[in-house]
Amino acid sequence: MKVLVAVKRVVDYNVKVRVKADNSGVDLANVKMSMNPFCEIAVEEAVRLKEKGVATEIVVVTIGPTTAQEQLRTALALGADRAVLVESAEELTSLAVAKLLKAVVDKEQPQLVILGKQAIDSDNNQTGQMLAALSGYPQGTFASRVEVTGDKVAVTREIDGGLQTVSLSLPAIVTTDLRLNEPRYASLPNIMKAKKKPLEVLTPDALGVSTASTNKTLKVEAPAARSAGIKVKSVAELVEKLKNEAKVI
Ligand code: AMP
Repeated sequence: MKVLVAVKRVVDYNVKVRVKADNSGVDLANVKMSMNPFCEIAVEEAVRLKEKGVATEIVVVTIGPTTAQEQLRTALALGADRAVLVESAEELTSLAVAKLLKAVVDKEQPQLVILGKQAIDSDNNQTGQMLAALSGYPQGTFASRVEVTGDKVAVTREIDGGLQTVSLSLPAIVTTDLRLNEPRYASLPNIMKAKKKPLEVLTPDALGVSTASTNKTLKVEAPAARSAGIKVKSVAELVEKLKNEAKVI
C-alpha cells in the first residue's frame, strides 16, 4: 500500500512570531523554520504503518519554496522513501494547496493520504477536508488512532465530548491529531542516508493547476498587549472588584 504524506514548512513552534512593520504579514527573515508538528505526526504514522508491513512505500510531498526541501529531507530521514516538492514561492490559499495535492494524488495513486489536522502558522484546519472533497475520498479528521484492515481504515477521531470511530474505504484521507503518536527523532545515519533518497521537483504549471487566489490579506496585526494586573489585599477586595469594576459576577 502506498501512503502519501503532506508536510508543510512553517515557522518553528518555539519562535516568537513578529509582524512586519508595514502590517503586510509575518516577518520570516532569519526565522527558524521547521516541519509543522502535526505533519511530523503524519510522517511518524506512515513510518509505523510501514514498520507493521501495512505500507510498502511512503511518498512525502510539500508545496512551497525551494527551501522546503529541508523539511522533505527531514521526512526522508524519518523513514519516507521519496519526496515531491511542488515548487511555489507564492503565498497559497488552502484551496490552491488542496488542488495541487489532488494533482499529486492523481499522479501517485496512493491508498492512504495523511495530513496534519492543522498548520500552526495560519491555523486553517481545512486542507485535508478540501482534498477529500476534491478527490471524492472519504475523510477521517483529528485522528488519534489509525488501523488499516484489508481495504478499510478505522479512524478514531477526537471530537467534543469523546471519541468517534469511523470506518473508511480506501483510498482515504486522514488528518492527524496530537495524541496519535509521538514522533521519533531522526538518527545521524538516517539523516546522511536521506541525502541520497529521490526528491522530485514539480511546478503548479506542470501539474496543470492554477493557483490564482480570490483571497487578499488586507492587514496582519499583533494581538493587543495585555495591560499589567494588580494585587488585591483580601478576598473581599477581590470580590468587590469583580462585582463593581470588572462586572463579571
Ligand atoms: P491547514 O489546512 O493549512 O491548517 O493545514 C493542514 C495540513 O494540510 C497540514 O498539516 C499539511 O499536512 C497540509 N498542508 C497545508 N499546507 C501545505 C503545503 N503548503 N504543502 C504540503 N502540505 C500542506
